Amino acid sequence: MSHETVYAIASGKGGVGKTTTTVNLGTALAEAGERVAIVDADLGMANLAGFVSLNPDSTTLYDVLAGDASIDDATYRLADNIVAVPSGTSLDEYAETSPEGLRDVVEELRSQFDYVFLDVGAGISHETVLPLGLADAVVLVSTPEPAAVHDTTKTIELTDRAGGEIAGLVLTRTRPDGDISHEEIAGRLETPLLGTIPEDPEARDSVYAGTPLVVFEPDGPAAVAYRRLAADLTGVDVSVSTDGGERDPDGSAAIDLEQDGDGAAVSSGGGPERDDDSREAAHDDVSSAITEAESDG
Ligand code: ADP
Ligand code: MG
Repeated sequence: MSHETVYAIASGKGGVGKTTTTVNLGTALAEAGERVAIVDADLGMANLAGFVSLNPDSTTLYDVLAGDASIDDATYRLADNIVAVPSGTSLDEYAETSPEGLRDVVEELRSQFDYVFLDVGAGISHETVLPLGLADAVVLVSTPEPAAVHDTTKTIELTDRAGGEIAGLVLTRTRPDGDISHEEIAGRLETPLLGTIPEDPEARDSVYAGTPLVVFEPDGPAAVAYRRLAADLTGVDVSVSTDGGERDPDGSAAIDLEQDGDGAAVSSGGGPERDDDSREAAHDDVSSAITEAESDG
């Protein structure tokens, strides 16, 4: 694959930030002028719609997978350049869906959009594994917590079985102290560290507001980190930060968009800065979790 455009956002453990990552990577790229589709492929526990204040009328991905609707009917515009394909929430309808249809959905969206992000369910069910093989690359999401890291090994294994490719690891909800070295976690999983997203109370508030973080609090630490991740992952010229990540007191600062640049746009503000990982404590926890995971394979 010369150019990866379809990404599965996946994790072993639930609640680690997959939907947050899907929504914010997608929105960051849309703001940079790319045409983006985000898909709630978490068929059993769909909640992407709530993150972006989307109230789908009757048609969802369930209807598409049940063969009752076209993908266009289940595609909703969120903002300039970005659409979402929500999943349904009724257990009865869920029972009638066939995840197999996801292959056609992905190929259709691939042909229509510059980037497609699949918000994949946690765990090891068939519907979770399938998207891992349909995507061009799998973005593993985990918190630094040993249990979540441990479960990531399963997702790596499943991706392999599904014939998919791992892009690397995104560590979410990182804290300046107390976390083990982020590079070391990625190293132990034998996967590149794509980026780290700091713990940020605005993440939760943005869900309540139904607005992506990168719009809700564009200069907050997590939003800046998501734009940096979007740039690093895809190579798209996403403006990372104009002020070194300082918060605007009233939270209203606009993102310095550099879309439609004819190859001339450069990231402003002196380029991205990387956080230094704190290298302390708790190494043993993760080491033993990973050893355990390796030995039960
Ligand atoms: P998943 O899709 O993996 O289940 P979510 O994206 O729904 O995870 O995130 C789970 C919870 O963690 C949500 O309440 C979300 O607001 C919160 N969260 C996600 N990322 C962050 C962050 N960087 N800082 C603080 N809270 C976060
Ligand atoms: Mg989710």
